[in-house]
Amino acid sequence: MKIGFIGLGHMGNPMARNLLKHGHTLKVFDVVPDLVRKLTELGCEVASSPAACAQGVELVVTMLPSSPHVRSVYTGKDSGKDSGILSGVSPGVLLIDSSTIDPHTARDVAMDARAHGNNMVDAPVSGGTGGAEAGTLTFMVGGDSADFEKAKPILQCMGKNIVHCGGAGNGQVAKICNNMMLAIEMIATAEGMALAVTLGMDPKVFAGIANTSSGRCWSSDTYNPFPGVLENVPASRGYTGGFGADLMLKDLTLVTEAAKAAKQPVMLGAAAQQLYQMHSTMGHGALDFSSIIKLYKKD
Ligand code: NAD
Repeated sequence: MKIGFIGLGHMGNPMARNLLKHGHTLKVFDVVPDLVRKLTELGCEVASSPAACAQGVELVVTMLPSSPHVRSVYTGKDSGKDSGILSGVSPGVLLIDSSTIDPHTARDVAMDARAHGNNMVDAPVSGGTGGAEAGTLTFMVGGDSADFEKAKPILQCMGKNIVHCGGAGNGQVAKICNNMMLAIEMIATAEGMALAVTLGMDPKVFAGIANTSSGRCWSSDTYNPFPGVLENVPASRGYTGGFGADLMLKDLTLVTEAAKAAKQPVMLGAAAQQLYQMHSTMGHGALDFSSIIKLYKKD
């Protein structure tokens, strides 16, 4: 297929490479010329705008930072120019947005696309840059069943687990609610680990007890935030690599805003958002999200 790919950053670059590996041809666009160059070296065609990138292709994939970028790249509304995807794409071409954004914007943009004659699915991912490189991402897909089936073979070039979550925006709902649960459980694990050690326990002994008792969770047994408890996790290499605390803060901000709009209480989600915000202002935003334990223990 001839695919238009927009957003060639940490995730978009390896995802685009995996599409090339599967024999697709790409037309690419990013606002950063160096990122575009990396793909032209692999034979991709370059476009001068999102509209040009969407012109003459059979499918469009976007991987952008957040909601305002997605709205502007699709509709061109915020840029004040007629350079959005919808002004260049032919009616009938399927649009796939894999950015993590708020469900409300995902539904709005899908409606704009539908009015233009294009169906759209939101397909945010989990699995990080490692999963993007290995082609093992999980895609959480929101949209019509027929569009899900059409998107699936393309998503399978970049991921292993492709899940239909329901109508437009539901992929984003799954993504941000899962990450809210993850943040809360990571903070709970950090708090419990730090207190047990302060009160005199060995961290490995306490983690072993929690992991065979009711305190067990993914953050305690697979991604423990206390240094030295597990090998090969960010906590044991200075919180480098992994999933950045600032990306977790972004997802928590999306989820708390979505909850606010729905008048749905998220007491622990809101507290988690504030803790990650404080962590970020203390200069730890670039570290892995398990570094939140720094709020509880001295280095
Ligand atoms: P990134 O910042 O590395 O890449 C985003 C790219 O979009 C950049 O190259 C940027 O130049 C480009 N861009 C911004 N505005 C643009 C515009 N108007 N037109 C064209 N290109 C534009 O971000 P990333 O780490 O690749 O993440 C992308 C998305 O995936 C985000 O929504 C993020 O939350 C989500 N995500 C990231 C990870 C991760 O581990 N990095 C994991 C899961 C989900």
